Amino acid sequence: MGFLQSITGWARHGRWHLYGLFASCACVLAACGLNLFSIDDDSRFGAQMDNEIRTTPSQYPILNNEGVRGYVQRVVDRIKMSPKIKYRDKFPYKVTVINDDRTINAFATPGGYVYVYTGLLKFIDNESTLAGVLAHEIGHAEERHGTKHMTTALGADIAMQVALGNNPSQLAQIAGNAAVLLGTLKNSRDDELEADTDSFLYLQSTPYWPGSIKYFFEKMLQQQGRSSSSPLAEWTSTHPTDQKRTDNVNKLLKDYQTPAPTAPMLMADNYRSMLRQLR
Ligand SMILES: [Zn+2]
Repeated sequence: MGFLQSITGWARHGRWHLYGLFASCACVLAACGLNLFSIDDDSRFGAQMDNEIRTTPSQYPILNNEGVRGYVQRVVDRIKMSPKIKYRDKFPYKVTVINDDRTINAFATPGGYVYVYTGLLKFIDNESTLAGVLAHEIGHAEERHGTKHMTTALGADIAMQVALGNNPSQLAQIAGNAAVLLGTLKNSRDDELEADTDSFLYLQSTPYWPGSIKYFFEKMLQQQGRSSSSPLAEWTSTHPTDQKRTDNVNKLLKDYQTPAPTAPMLMADNYRSMLRQLR
């Protein structure tokens, strides 16, 4: 039996078995975002996933261009200095660029390993939009969405193991296979909105325009209208997008009385110079 099948098996068994004892447990886990994992677990799982990515070049061809990687890293380093970032000393927030022009996406693992595809770099128009997208990914890591979802998926069973004090090897197996499980979990719409709000708040302390992720949404919607089999399929499958997300950013702009962006905030010239290194 594969790991995922056994996880599904435990979950099914757990729900049925624990119904009387922990009737409200699953709801509580799901609703209040409880996380049974530690910050160190996030770091460990992230390092595992990063290792997996680095050793799978057929799926993740890593761009070997320090000029481009360093440019993206400097954007992340600015975001990382926001007073709203809690885990800057715990998580590396290290950027890796994946050399795949056909994929318009970015993602972060738990524990703050950040990946961006060349397809996304070429799709957007300025450094501020890149900052908006990267700050969103950092938001997922800071909010610990990955291990929160793991808790929801496994929580009742872990609780059972802890309560019964048996089978520590099963817990070890969960931790050992975290990379596989995390790879199957998707962010919810609420996660997306939360990470968008984080993006806005993190950018407030940077030279970038706080609402910049909006440019990405707008461009994406235009593109989606043009073609059904667009390279955006990857982004939309991992980042559900709808009008609500744009509305959320517009509301933040209004609530914080954010002035319209100026050209120096958007940094389009810098960005074009960086893109020349990708041709
Ligand atoms: Zn997201």
